[in-house]
Amino acid sequence: MRVLYPGSFDPLTNGHLDLIERGVELFGEVVVAVLHNTDKVPTFSLEKRVHQIQQSTKHLRGVEIVSFEGLTVDCAKDEKCTLILRGLRALSDFEYELQLAHTNRSLACNTETVFLATTAHHSFLSSSVVKEVAKFGGNISHLVPEIVANELKLLFNK
Ligand code: ADP
Repeated sequence: MRVLYPGSFDPLTNGHLDLIERGVELFGEVVVAVLHNTDKVPTFSLEKRVHQIQQSTKHLRGVEIVSFEGLTVDCAKDEKCTLILRGLRALSDFEYELQLAHTNRSLACNTETVFLATTAHHSFLSSSVVKEVAKFGGNISHLVPEIVANELKLLFNK
């Protein structure tokens, strides 16, 4: 099966990577769909985020990386995915994710969202937390793939 794993990935963390790895194990093919949100200025450009994911998933078979703008369900349709993969870190994620899943189902009734519970030791991880730590020169090497750690260090001049 082919699942769409959409997100901002600004930047990719080990939590995202863990979900991609488990997604491949479970479904066979994971299409990582990187959101180009024209309403928000990202920390890393779309090209950089795509490149970070490409480099960090080189060891995996069954991963494709695409970028998209607009509705996730349209991207899922274009990519021939009837499943959307999302991660759940804590109860705080649940309300928003449930709302998204219902919205997507109302827009495309053949599209199902599947949730994977985050691996416990990644449950505190988010792109914003990582950026905050990197900004103040903290160690992030255990939180993100090597290329992301290097690019964050460059970005914050640490
Ligand atoms: P979005 O802006 O769409 O939430 P993110 O890049 O923040 O994009 O997250 C994409 C997906 O990855 C979401 O389903 C989110 O719950 C999941 N995710 C984020 N951080 C982690 C993590 N540490 N472990 C597992 N899943 C995560």
